[in-house]
Amino acid sequence: MYPRPIQKLIEEFSKFPTVGVRTATRFALYTTKMDNKEIKKLIEAIISAKKETKICASCFSLFEPNKEQTLCNICLNNKRNKSLLCIVEKESDLLAIENTNTYNGLYFILGGTLSPMRKSSIGNIRIKELLEKLNNKEIKEVIIATNFTSEGEATALYLEKQIKKYPVNITRLARGLPKGSELEYIDEETISSAITGRK
Ligand SMILES: [Zn+2]
Repeated sequence: MYPRPIQKLIEEFSKFPTVGVRTATRFALYTTKMDNKEIKKLIEAIISAKKETKICASCFSLFEPNKEQTLCNICLNNKRNKSLLCIVEKESDLLAIENTNTYNGLYFILGGTLSPMRKSSIGNIRIKELLEKLNNKEIKEVIIATNFTSEGEATALYLEKQIKKYPVNITRLARGLPKGSELEYIDEETISSAITGRK
């Protein structure tokens, strides 16, 4: 057993996504080798990441606001096509699509996925906010861009059922993307052609 303060730090690092106890232990032990200046820098970076960013009131993505700005720069950009709405699970999926420079519409971040097994996971995603958004007559096409994992597929099916009630076209990214894969790990060219080939 590690000393209690180290054990406590391991517990905290274990809460991070994809970090298991073994990695958390390595992180914790690493911090004991950092000098005070480095530790201060790390703490300050965490505090400012939280304090100096906001969640966009329209697409729910994270951004660095200018004064009282409540919408992100994508939502505020007049050159973006406001009739297109691309639904993604999370921040990193938005960035993966944005980095292709192929998509010029708006986004919506669901904030999670549905578990194929449990109906109760509906509370994990921003479905209410999404449907409210679809009352906006400007949106003509909704692109469901959830990941190609079983959770992503279950979420896509559920979304399709819900969105059908609205007068919009529903499209999905073209097939050909590897099964079980997440957008953030797919190369730009493949995502790019999945966007252009959507149906
Ligand atoms: Zn936004």
